[in-house]
Amino acid sequence: MTRLPVTARYQVGRFEVTVISDGYIDFPFDWFTGVTPDQAKQATEAVHAAGKNGVRSGFSTWLINDGERYVLVDSGPAGTVSSTSGYLPETLAALGVKPADIDAVILTHAHIDHIGGMVAGNRNNFPNAEVYMDRRDIKTFTNTSIAARAPEITKSSFAATEQLVRLYPRMQPIDGERQIAPGLSVFDLSGHTPGHIGVRIEDGGESLNLVADMLFHPAAHPALPGFGIIFEMDKAAADATRARFFAKAAEEGALLAATHMPFPGVGRIVKDAGALEWQPADWTYGA
Ligand SMILES: [Zn+2]
Repeated sequence: MTRLPVTARYQVGRFEVTVISDGYIDFPFDWFTGVTPDQAKQATEAVHAAGKNGVRSGFSTWLINDGERYVLVDSGPAGTVSSTSGYLPETLAALGVKPADIDAVILTHAHIDHIGGMVAGNRNNFPNAEVYMDRRDIKTFTNTSIAARAPEITKSSFAATEQLVRLYPRMQPIDGERQIAPGLSVFDLSGHTPGHIGVRIEDGGESLNLVADMLFHPAAHPALPGFGIIFEMDKAAADATRARFFAKAAEEGALLAATHMPFPGVGRIVKDAGALEWQPADWTYGA
């Protein structure tokens, strides 16, 4: 069966934002932290979200067009952690966008499921792009002594970051909040990784926050900030950031887009009878 490109498009002021599905994975139940594998299984079955072998989760990347430039946020796993992934190149082609047309790539963090597409085939896949990633992730994931101590499952992220730095000499390390272009800025969400960042798109009174791995799945987040994943090297920091961020996002009613939430992963954190819940955004029929 031919796979059709999976996309959803939103207009945020003058920005056209296309959510591109790079595919999916069934995250094994024993990859989660703060819960037992049985608890993870029960939580996902309760919302009919269990895949064959785990928690079925998507990989979204985002293509932003401000009318002049194409900015890509994250690049998918490119088939690395999941054989049902790696659809970014063919989807960009279907959208009429060549790799050389991408002017900038913002990477939310150094995990392989977000940077894999940058370095797939050990090539510079976006030859004209300025690349932005938080300096703390660049430092951590190119540090050979941290790599030597890191859990086996995270080794591919270290290897891919080393490739990224080598293949993209125009990489620009980010230190904290920064405007990348008018209406496009990054903000700190460190915890999941030391340099995990979000991207804020804002224009004409509208905004959308790309928050990457702040929420994994509605079965767990935002209700359970202690529900983590084994890729997190500092679980306490990841849990604390989630707890803080979930409360703040609910208070602000901010429109969010998260990588692994069910496609297109756009919605809000709302408070219902004191408990935090994920509320998918209604389809806008726009753009
Ligand atoms: Zn991820």
